Amino acid sequence: MPAAVYVGDGKIAVHDLPVPVPGPHEVLVEVSQCGICGSDMHLVLEGYARPGTVLGHEWAGTVVTSGSAATDWEPGARVVSNPTPGCGTCRPCRLGRPSVCLTRAAPDYLSFGGAFCRYLVVGAERLLRLSDTLSTRDAALTEPTAIAVHTVNLSGVVPGDRVLVTGGGPVGLLTVAVLVARGVTDITVSEPSPLRRDRAAAVGASVVMAPDQFPTPGLGRPVAAPFDVAFECSGQAAAAETALDQLDFAGTLVFVGTGRTMPRINHNRMIVLELTILGAYNYDDDGFRGALDLLASGTIPTDLLIEPDDVLLGEVGETMARLAQGEIAGKVLVRPEVAS
Ligand SMILES: [Zn+2]
Ligand SMILES: [Zn+2]
Repeated sequence: MPAAVYVGDGKIAVHDLPVPVPGPHEVLVEVSQCGICGSDMHLVLEGYARPGTVLGHEWAGTVVTSGSAATDWEPGARVVSNPTPGCGTCRPCRLGRPSVCLTRAAPDYLSFGGAFCRYLVVGAERLLRLSDTLSTRDAALTEPTAIAVHTVNLSGVVPGDRVLVTGGGPVGLLTVAVLVARGVTDITVSEPSPLRRDRAAAVGASVVMAPDQFPTPGLGRPVAAPFDVAFECSGQAAAAETALDQLDFAGTLVFVGTGRTMPRINHNRMIVLELTILGAYNYDDDGFRGALDLLASGTIPTDLLIEPDDVLLGEVGETMARLAQGEIAGKVLVRPEVAS
């Protein structure tokens, strides 16, 4: 089968790999589409991934064959795969945060058995069936939607809040979409790319602006029109510093986008305004089910969040570079084929 393989030096090449064989409790899934995630881009463009690795985790697909004990899954069933569950008893699990379960094996970010390829073997117990109202292609948005829902839930945002989202790329746009679905109406998106600003407005941001347009706060007091909650979705240190500066008393900053340079935190400002900073990593308990329901409900504008043209395996590397430049606003899906 064709696969987009990380070959080192920030580069990806299409290789021919053997089709994996499912065990008794596993199924073979044909990947329909797999989204390019910011984490894939960090691993490739910054060269962290191990050569030989196939990346990609935001996939949806169709069952091809099932192992002898995986009798619930007929060929043609349309599916996504749940993350591995938490233990259910440790402190993070009891808080509804299985992504940071204490018994979870340390993730191997470097050599990931990913879905930028045609076939995957998946444990049958992890599969979730797609409803008839959700296309397989839109279902490739399940994982990032589950992240956005988790992010919004952790933030404690309520519909009347004034919200800032820094970064209007795929993560920021999806965060805006989930906020809108939750009834939040006062959403400002700051983003340097005009293309991404326009898309953010279409998705539901009430105000879009360039990052250099924010006022500088006075010592120990909020700006004139401060925000209650800020979601930092760009991974840029300067954006995080700006977001913190724009918060109101008792405001909350949520880190969503990872980045290479670390922001400087004004602890004096945090103390005087009693600010909260928190990080949001993965999913709520049963977060994929909730994300599937949200996508199937039609309240998430997938046509604005997903780029209209899918790319093929041979275009993954150059597409990542374009995404990193801000030349593309929405989520790019990879169709696991090669150009003929
Ligand atoms: Zn992802
Ligand atoms: Zn646990």
